[in-house]
Amino acid sequence: MSPGERSAPPWGVCTETPQQREPAVTIYERSVPGRRAAAAVGSGVGETPLAELIEQRFLRSEPAALPEVSEPEIVRHYNRLSRRNFDLDSGFYPLGSCTMKHNPRLNERVAALPGHARLHPATDPALAQGALALMWRLQGALAAVTGLAEVSLQPSAGSHGELAGLLVTRAWHADRGQGELRREVLIPDTAHGTNPATVTMAGYTVVKVATDGAGGVDLADLRAKAGPSTAALMVTNPNTLGIFDPNISEITAIVRAAGGTLYYDGANLNAVMGRSRPGDMGFDIVHLNLHKSFSQPHGGGGPGAGPIAVSQRLAPYLPVPLVRRDGDRYQFELAEDRPKSIGRLRGFHGNFGVFVRAYAYILSLGGDGLRAASEDAVLNANYLLARLLAGPAGRYLPLAFGERCMHEFVLSGAAAKRELGVRTLDIAKRLLDYGFHPPTVYFPLLVEEAMMVEPTETETRETLDAFVVAIESIIAEAKQDPEILRNAPYTTPVRRLDEVAAARNPILRQGWTAG
Ligand SMILES: *Cc1c(COP(=O)(O)O)cnc(C)c1O
Repeated sequence: MSPGERSAPPWGVCTETPQQREPAVTIYERSVPGRRAAAAVGSGVGETPLAELIEQRFLRSEPAALPEVSEPEIVRHYNRLSRRNFDLDSGFYPLGSCTMKHNPRLNERVAALPGHARLHPATDPALAQGALALMWRLQGALAAVTGLAEVSLQPSAGSHGELAGLLVTRAWHADRGQGELRREVLIPDTAHGTNPATVTMAGYTVVKVATDGAGGVDLADLRAKAGPSTAALMVTNPNTLGIFDPNISEITAIVRAAGGTLYYDGANLNAVMGRSRPGDMGFDIVHLNLHKSFSQPHGGGGPGAGPIAVSQRLAPYLPVPLVRRDGDRYQFELAEDRPKSIGRLRGFHGNFGVFVRAYAYILSLGGDGLRAASEDAVLNANYLLARLLAGPAGRYLPLAFGERCMHEFVLSGAAAKRELGVRTLDIAKRLLDYGFHPPTVYFPLLVEEAMMVEPTETETRETLDAFVVAIESIIAEAKQDPEILRNAPYTTPVRRLDEVAAARNPILRQGWTAG
């Protein structure tokens, strides 16, 4: 839809300029036979017919119908598309739980060095000693940050790390002849959605543990549910309410006494790096999201890394390959070196570019810098929270639990809905017109009309202040005319989408046929 077709509201219109607008015809419809963006030169290697390399049944009967366009056309097409999205490089992105911190450009420069970026994953380890050394040092740094014995870099995302952790747990119990007995995983009801999903995927049963009035794990409920069928406890700490559980040592003691392993969802390590360590709290397994706490471009499906760190007792089961140092040589430790390993979780060794950025981030900050990053993340969140609560948000969008927070906080828009007739979704959409990416909404599920805000340490006080002004202006608009919010956003390339219809009836390709 072009801006002209929209009913222009009096309170704001799309600011897209003509050259930012995508042409009315698609890139496919712009195709002209014979146009080329690039011409491949002959390789000089003998031409082996494709049919000899790939089985006939895997070959197309006719070439793929790709658009034939010139190089400037394709460059402009992608450039325009890239500017139609909201990204961290263009605005504040306080997406709770996702840690959208700035990605230092230094890390990009290091990751782009040819020795890193162009290394083939099948290179003989003897010729890739630098890369192996980097992975070995990263394993060591993450072990130090978590306070645990050993680290595997295999998992490619936080949720993949969760799966690895539960498979390690399963191997541990099976080794003790308790595999059949221990079928349950305890999870607080504040957990990130990936936790229960992983439990089911790993073949376990989820047992929900209640949250107490202060937003922590309900100890009485935990005591009642931990027992001989407990395989593990999975907790996020600070939890998704942004609260560090004051009873964490007691929680680990209860589950350890019941014979379960202790899993710490470390996706949100940004609040505690350099200050407290899951290993010291009694945990056995931690996954880290390198693409959150350790700065990586993420969101939109970019590659990630979810390494797991484990205690000594679980180290024999870690996924391989790991990197080991023998004297001054580095090598991969494979299944034959670690016979109880749960094996591989993916091809090759992980998303190496993500390792390089994370290692560059750790080295450039140092231990003190990591600690300062956590402290600033917590300070920024508490500053933003205090400023919001002191204004009209304190009445219409109050804090759901507690008084202070760690790196993020969860507001409840229940009063705004009741008294102003606007939902959290409406406030979130209106924020886009003010130039801010909306926070996470409707999560965690136990908070009515939840809005989860994580400012991160890399934002200035001026940005946080501007966000407060935006929220206050939006509440004032809601009082004046709630329709303003209900129809937002107005300034984005597309207006409010029908998310329910999009989920139930996804149309993922254009009505266009090859011909
Ligand atoms: C992001 C997140 C995950 C999942 O990580 P992915 O890399 O998205 O799979 C798990 N737990 C928590 C608390 C998270 O914030």
